[in-house]
Amino acid sequence: MGTTQLTYGSRSTGSGRPRLHGLIGLAFGLCLALMPGAAMSNPSRPANEFAVATDARIEQAGEVVRLTMALSRPVEVSASVMAAPDRVIIDLPSVNFQVQPSAARKSAGFVSAFRFGMFTPDKSRIILDLAQPALVTRAEVRSVRGGFGELVVELKRASRAEFQAASVRAAPQAPEDPASQAAKPQGETRQLVVIDPGHGGIDPGAVVASIAEKSVVLAFGLALKGQLEASGRYRVLMTRDDDTFVPLGERVRIARAAGADLFISIHADSLTQSQDVRGATIYTGSERATDAESARLAAKENQADAVAGLDATEDMQDVAGILMDLAKRETRTFSSLFARNLVEKLGGSVRLHKVPMRSAGFRVLTAPDVPSVLIELGYMSSPKDAELLNSLSWRLQAVAAVEAAVNGFFERGQAVGKAAANQR
Ligand SMILES: [Zn+2]
Repeated sequence: MGTTQLTYGSRSTGSGRPRLHGLIGLAFGLCLALMPGAAMSNPSRPANEFAVATDARIEQAGEVVRLTMALSRPVEVSASVMAAPDRVIIDLPSVNFQVQPSAARKSAGFVSAFRFGMFTPDKSRIILDLAQPALVTRAEVRSVRGGFGELVVELKRASRAEFQAASVRAAPQAPEDPASQAAKPQGETRQLVVIDPGHGGIDPGAVVASIAEKSVVLAFGLALKGQLEASGRYRVLMTRDDDTFVPLGERVRIARAAGADLFISIHADSLTQSQDVRGATIYTGSERATDAESARLAAKENQADAVAGLDATEDMQDVAGILMDLAKRETRTFSSLFARNLVEKLGGSVRLHKVPMRSAGFRVLTAPDVPSVLIELGYMSSPKDAELLNSLSWRLQAVAAVEAAVNGFFERGQAVGKAAANQR
C-alpha cells in the first residue's frame, strides 16, 4: 500500500487533448472520454495491472458538484443516472481502490454520499447518492504528467422530469444456470455449509470510524470456514471470499445450486440512533418481522442491491412457487433449530443482544430448501462492540461458538428430521 502514494501537487498537467463534454446518461453505457489507449500508459507498468485509485474528493463549486479521484493511469469511464433511489453510477474497469472508506461518507451539495468498489471481477463502480435530481455534465479521466490519470465527474441539478428522462434501468443479469454449479459430488458424506459474508465491493455495509462492515464480516467468514474445514466434517462454500459485490439473490442461488445443507449469513450493523444497543443477534427469515427494529434492519439489508446500483426489482426471482409449503415449513423448523443452537453456544462465550433470536424478511434467507440464518455479530455503532469485532481473540471465541452450534445442528437436526419424517 505504501508504494502507491500518488499525491501530486499540481493539477494543471493535463494533456490538453480535447474532450467530449455534455449531458450524458441518455442511453445506457454511453461512454465518454475514452482514453487514447496504449500510448498514454506508463511504459514501466504492465498493461494488465489494475489502475490504483488513491485520493478521492467531493466538493461543491457554485452549481457544480465535482468528484475527483487520483488514478495511477488513465482508464475508460462511463456514467449514467438511475432512479429509486436516485444515484449516479460511474463504471470503470477493475480499479484497486486505496481510498479510505470514510472518504465515501463525505457529502457535498446534493450528493449525500458516495461509495466505490469492485462490481464484477473486471468492473469497478463508483456510486453517488443524490439528495436531489441531478445530471452528469462531465465524466472523464484526464491524463496527468507521469502517466497518471485523474477522474473528474461533474454534476448539475436537474428537474425531476429531466432526471427521469435520463435515468436508465440496470442491465438485467444473465440468469445463472444451476446445472453449471457443482452439486454434491457422489459419495460425498460431509455436510455442505455455505458462509455468506454480507456486503462487499461497492457495498461497504455499515462504516464506523473507517472500519467497514464488509471487511469485518469477511474476516469472520474466512475464519469460520477455516475452522469448519479443519474439523474434517464439512465442506464450505463462500458466497464471496474477497472484496467483491454479490447480489442478494445470487447468494441464495449459490447455496441452492450447490445443494447446501446450511446457510450462514454474517453481518455487523450499526444503529445510528443508539450507541448503547449491543450484542449478537440471530435472525431467521419470515414474511412478518417479530418486531419493528428487525423489520427496519431487514429493509436496510435488502437495500444492498440498490446500493450497488442494481435495479432492486430485477433480482426478485421468486422461488416461493418452486417448492411446496410443506418443504418451506420444514426448512423453517430447521432454521429455527439452528438459530436456537447459535443463541445457546454464542451466549456461552460472547455477549448477546437482550432479545437475541428474531425473524424478519431478509432476502438472503429466502431459500425454501436450505436452512438459513443471519448472524448480526454485534453493532459497529456501539464503541464496545466495534472494539470486540476487531479483536482476534473475540473472533476466535465467536467462531468456535458458531462451530459448536453447527455441530449441534447436524447431530440433533438429523434426529429431528427423522422424527418429522416418521410423523408424516
Ligand atoms: Zn449488514
